[in-house]
Amino acid sequence: MTAFSLDPAQLTWCAELRALAAERLRPLAEKGEPGRVDRALVAELGALGLISRLFTSGALDLCLMRESLAHACTEAETALALQGLGAHPVHTHGTDAQRDRWLPAVAAGTAVPAFALSEPEAGSDAAALTLAAAPLAPRHGPGERGSPPGRTGSEEGTSPSAESVWATGAEPARPSTGSGSGMDAVTPAAEDDGTGGPVPGAAGSAAPRPAAGRGPGPDGARPVAERDGAAGWRLTGEKCWISNAPEADFYTVFARTTPGAGARGVTAFLVPADRPGLTGTPLDMLSPHPVGALAFDGVPVTADDVLGEPNRGFRVAMDTLNLFRPSVGAFAVGMAQAALDATVAHTTARDAFGGKLRDLQTVAHEVAEMALRTETARLMVYAAATAYDQSAADVPRRAAMAKLLATETAQYVVDRAVQLHGARALRRGHLLEHLYREVRAPRVYEGASEVQRGIIAKELYRAHDATAKEPRP
Ligand SMILES: Cc1cc2nc3c(=O)[nH]c(=O)nc-3n(C[C@H](O)[C@H](O)[C@H](O)COP(=O)(O)OP(=O)(O)OC[C@H]3O[C@@H](n4cnc5c(N)ncnc54)[C@H](O)[C@@H]3O)c2cc1C
Repeated sequence: MTAFSLDPAQLTWCAELRALAAERLRPLAEKGEPGRVDRALVAELGALGLISRLFTSGALDLCLMRESLAHACTEAETALALQGLGAHPVHTHGTDAQRDRWLPAVAAGTAVPAFALSEPEAGSDAAALTLAAAPLAPRHGPGERGSPPGRTGSEEGTSPSAESVWATGAEPARPSTGSGSGMDAVTPAAEDDGTGGPVPGAAGSAAPRPAAGRGPGPDGARPVAERDGAAGWRLTGEKCWISNAPEADFYTVFARTTPGAGARGVTAFLVPADRPGLTGTPLDMLSPHPVGALAFDGVPVTADDVLGEPNRGFRVAMDTLNLFRPSVGAFAVGMAQAALDATVAHTTARDAFGGKLRDLQTVAHEVAEMALRTETARLMVYAAATAYDQSAADVPRRAAMAKLLATETAQYVVDRAVQLHGARALRRGHLLEHLYREVRAPRVYEGASEVQRGIIAKELYRAHDATAKEPRP
């Protein structure tokens, strides 16, 4: 496969997925409740083997699945993507015990995960997250209530860098070479938050700066996450706009273990939904997407719940987002294609001015423009996914371009499709009314369009500066 064309087997697979989405998943999704996790739909995706494929294949397969399902069933597409987004950190950074406990159930569609990074005051600037992980004395464990940690919002909210995980997921990240799996695309350098300082907890790093009133303990020792579960923390704070919350069975939670350290003071935890002190509220969104807010009131976690290493949780987030960013573009391409197909059919059938709508040259040219832009976005998505799978050097730029172009294109195409359908497209329940609501959020989540432009520019100037430093032959 090149970045420019799929091979016959891939094309056949995509056609099968589109048929599956239309004939089997769409009827199931219609029985679900908008804005709620549809467990029957997730279980069906598991039974079809699509979820397990998320963990055994690369970025291109992920994109093909998302694009193909989105064509006829955005609910199935989103449910599949969220199984991957929430569980990918466990797949790539979990211990054997964490993986054995959760991944088979996620793949079967019987356990629902969620990726909990965003907070009310930290969205694009995710490095400013304040959900506090306050260290406990070693004797405490899950279920044993220690003193609730105090909040130190102002200190913790300090972000030493304007970078965000959405941005730094591209900025310092380079695909690792030689992994071959395409699933481990970030070098250790990706943990750099751009401040140029050391990573707390890493050998030779400077002493971390504890927040007043909730420091590391009387002897100044930091909690050391050991796999025997000796160290523990209490999580206190909020997460917001979390897909699958509050109904998920477990959450990948990014929390601040080192106050004032920005991206370098974040740890990823696997938090089962039944931990004491964890509550949530569903949020009613424009699209029928299950999204909620989470409240953490001294939720106990131990070293056994850490994903990856303490204070290196940003790497976990970046690994996940590097993989998923182009696939958001694939979701958008699937929606654009559905809108385009509907428009070709409608303009063919609709009588107008003694002929059909498609006989009007302005209409035909509009349809041509929709097709042109959709195909351009598709190629960009495939190229970015292929670059990821091949551990290419320019993944961050390509992924940002693909997500930006595809999501903005889908918005344009769906809007033009509504226009060419007239009033019927605005009636509740029409495909285009549904797509019009669905197409908006991907321009905001996993890095807003403006953030993607920032990544692209930064990568261009980085390449320019690197070239400029090279001596002339
Ligand atoms: C449907 C949906 C599902 C979501 N699911 C999840 C989830 O599962 N997990 C999760 O952690 N989060 C999730 N989110 C949250 C999402 O990631 C955030 O909304 C996103 O990161 C933007 O943060 P914000 O909404 O706080 O906007 P802000 O960060 O406040 O940004 C608002 C706007 O400011 C502008 N802006 C921001 N930064 C820059 C910049 N650097 N340069 C130029 N302009 C900028 C952009 O126009 C941006 O849209 C979801 C959101 C939605 C809508």
